[in-house]
Parts: sequence; structure tokens; C-alpha cells
Amino acid sequence: MQPTWQITKTFKELDFANGLTAEQLFCTPVGLTYNNVNILPAAVGKPRQLDLASQLARGFKINLPILSSPMDTVTESRMAIHMALMGGIGFIHFNLPPDRAAAEVRRVKRYQMGFITEPCCRKPGDPISEVPKVKSRRGYSTILITEDGTPESKLLGMVTKTHVDLEEQLNRPLGEVMKPTAKLRYFLKKDVPTLAAARAIFSHDPDLTKIPILNEDGSVYALVTRHDTVKSGTYPLQLVDDNNQLRVGAAISTHERDLERAKLLIEAGVDVIIIDAAQGSTGYEVDQIKAVKAMKPELPVIAGNVVTPRQAEQLVEAGADALRVGMGPGSICSTQGQTGIGRAQLAAVYHVARYAKSLKNPLPVIADGGIRSPGCIFKALAVGADTVMVGNYVARTDESPGDVIIDAKGRWKIYRGMGSPSAQRDGGGARYGDARHPEVMVPQGVEGKVPAIGSVDGLLKGTAASLRKSILDYAGLESLPALHQAMNNGQLRFELRSDEAQKEGDVHDVIVLEENHK
Ligand code: 5GP
Repeated sequence: MQPTWQITKTFKELDFANGLTAEQLFCTPVGLTYNNVNILPAAVGKPRQLDLASQLARGFKINLPILSSPMDTVTESRMAIHMALMGGIGFIHFNLPPDRAAAEVRRVKRYQMGFITEPCCRKPGDPISEVPKVKSRRGYSTILITEDGTPESKLLGMVTKTHVDLEEQLNRPLGEVMKPTAKLRYFLKKDVPTLAAARAIFSHDPDLTKIPILNEDGSVYALVTRHDTVKSGTYPLQLVDDNNQLRVGAAISTHERDLERAKLLIEAGVDVIIIDAAQGSTGYEVDQIKAVKAMKPELPVIAGNVVTPRQAEQLVEAGADALRVGMGPGSICSTQGQTGIGRAQLAAVYHVARYAKSLKNPLPVIADGGIRSPGCIFKALAVGADTVMVGNYVARTDESPGDVIIDAKGRWKIYRGMGSPSAQRDGGGARYGDARHPEVMVPQGVEGKVPAIGSVDGLLKGTAASLRKSILDYAGLESLPALHQAMNNGQLRFELRSDEAQKEGDVHDVIVLEENHK
């Protein structure tokens, strides 16, 4: 892995003792990625506070530069809500019918802090054994009993842990042990419109821990818990629009039929559209950018994926507001093996970002895929990315779609590529399939399981703290624009890592007792 720039200056002039500039580092035919590179610490003054604000797209600011990917095992409303609460943003995937995707967007826009708008519901005939199952999968044991087991039907009662913890007959129906609606303190949505209203009710009744909030027809609108009410207000970076509603993005494919999806998403209040294509530089995508822009010119449209400036050019000309970069680095991705096409991710991000920033009207760049640790996020930002998109990194959390699976080896969540055979059958073919030959499927991803690690809030808090270490304490810089400037002017220095250096830099020669989830 030898850089091939022409050395016309002396060793001293190049200042190799203090590392390489980004330009020197990437002047090589070798595809460099996260693990191939270290960033060298700087001589630091007394930096005070890191501002992690960044640009997601032209005219679209974001408070934490982390995005959750439009994948069916990563982002639906629950994930998108928490991404926005933490200052980032989530993109609803397109493996669900357009009206359901729009409903997911609406759920995010209607979210009110502290209101659980999708509480766990069961039918009165379901057995008590459901309670421990729900507890182990979702982490709580409050179940609302409704006529048909969904929030859309009438509330009949509520079951909490204390209704069942001494019960020995686990096959007894929940309907026999529930506290019936008549004995519950519940409220109509119109009477408890805000968290402040719920807080007032809790403050007048210290024994009250949960309040079901009902629609006029008796169906369930939400559940509010005392715990969430007390905890709320801990999201100082939350990303909201002018109406104080959380921001959310959603994906459409390059197929013309998905313009109908775009229309429904726009009606639902989506804040940004991402055109989701593995090879983004096509005439289909160019048409799609123009068509969405024609529908609502002020709505930011993210285009991609690309890995070279040449690929990016036609998307920029078509009016893209940001570029999504990555082909093949994803943890579940088999594109490079299957097709021989792709690019090492750090190099792709550097070269596309350098091009995007050289434009008269510079474009933000998203580094998409291959993130294993906060260190990778820092490296992506350091070589020019404005934001970083993750799949695997957050698929492991409670907020990704799907339940926790428990086996002898631990707690897991399912995570699959949108180009995996099962996801393609469910709709991911719009990104990876070949409309000219729908009869043959070319799998470009796999389905797997990842360890379940708890809430995405905790993960992102830890990630932001790691970024503070890297950017503020070790590089001595107080914002992402300052980081980009330091990379561009050669102040930020890099070093290639040999295989041995990689082994040395990872934990070694110890049996780890406590995993820190990297
Ligand atoms: P991860 O964060 O898991 O490393 O990568 C997530 C990214 O991989 C996604 O944002 C998307 O760009 C890409 N991706 C998702 N599914 C597939 C797939 O099946 N095949 C390929 N090639 N890439 C995928």
C-alpha cells in the first residue's frame, strides 16, 4: 500500500514526521478505507465546546451529523423519532406500500414528547404468558387490551406487571386479570393535548403511573407514562421544523411509479426525500430528481449513491441538494463480490466531497455505510463528509423495527440488506432489481443478526461524546466546518496503518470482560 505521488520535495519539506495531508494520503491507486488510516493528534490549545451542527442538504441544517438508513430493519417511525430527538434524522424505507410509508412520516410529525403513540396492545383472549414475552422483547410490561389487539379498536382494559407477577396459570386470558377501562383513569385526546397537560394530571395524583389517551371513538391514541413525563426535556439537540414538529426523511426509488409515493410523503409532511439507488448515476435518477423538484421546489432532494465525482456530475446538474456516497462498504452488502463494482469508502467520501465542495454552490455529502465505531464516523467527517449514514450501527437498538430474538448465545435483532433475497422479494428490488429482467434476482446483500444493545438514545449520546474526544480534545477543533478547513489546509494529518499497526491499535492480548460496543 505505497502512495505513488511524485516526490519532488525533500522529506523535511513534506513534513512526513508530522504525518500526511489528506491530499498526499489519497494520491494513491489503492482504495483506502476507515481501518487503513489513523488521524494524528494535534498540539491543542484550550478548546471549549464542540458544535456538531452540520448541513444535511443545501439549506437543511442538522444538529447531530448522524442519519439512519432507509432500510426495512433500520428506520420506521420509532427510529426516526429518536434520531430526530437526538438531533439527527431518520429516513423511512420504501419496502412498504406508499400509504403506509406516508403514515410512518405522519407518526413522526405528530409525535409528542412523552406520548407513546404505538403502545403494545393485545386481545382479551390472549394468555398471560404474553406479558413476560413483551417485557423481554420490548423492555416494558404494560399492555393495553383492545377488542382486536390493535390500537385502532376500542380499549377494554390495561395489564401491568403487578396484575400478573403472582399468577401461576400462564394460560389464563389477559381479559380476566386486566383492570377494565371503567376502573382506569383515561382521558380523551382533546383533554390532554400536550405533555404539559399530562404532567399536570400526574402532579395531582402521585399514585398514577400511566394514562391511556383515547380517540373520540374509544380507540387508543397514546399511552403516557409518569416515567417518560419526568424524563422528557432531555433532548436539547432535537431537530424540529418551524411548527416544532420533529423532522423526518423518506426514500423513494428511481421508478416512475414512485412519484405517487413522493406525492403521499409530501402530503404527510416529509422534510427531505432521498432517492434510493445503489447506482445513483443514471438517467432514471436524473428524471426522478427533476420530477420531485417540480412537485415541490423547496423540498431538499438527496441523490445517490455515487463514489466518483464523474458519477456525481449529472445528479448535481439535475438539481440534487446533497450527495450520498458509498457502493459496497455496507456490513450486509455483497455488491462488490457479486458485481466487481464499488469503491473503498474513505477514498470515495474524500474524492466526492472534494468535488462537491469545489462547486460554485457547494453540496453537502453523506458518507453511507461501513461504520463500525465512532472512530469511523470521525474519519468520514474528517475527510470531508458533512453527515454519516448508518445501518448496522443502529439496527442493534430497541428502536429499529422488529423484536429482540433471544437464543442461548444472547439477545439479537435481525438486520438485512435491502438487496438481500428476502428484502428484494418484499420490495427492495426497486433498489437492486433489474426491471428489464424481473425473473432473475441478483442478490446484493445478506440477512443476518446483530447483538441487541439497548436504546438508540444511549448509543448516540455515547457517539457524540466520542466525537467530542476526537474532534475537540485530540484534534483541537470546535466545529465540523473547522475540521473540514483543517483537512483542506493540510493542518489535519493522517497516517496509513500497516496490518501490524491495525492489530496493535485494536485491543489485543487480553480477554475482554466488558464489551463497550465500540
Ligand atoms: P452499514 O451501516 O450496515 O455498514 O451499511 C448500510 C448501508 O448499506 C445502507 O445505508 C445502504 O447504502 C447500503 N445497503 C443496504 N442494503 C444493502 C444491500 O443489500 N446491498 C448493498 N450493496 N448495500 C446495501
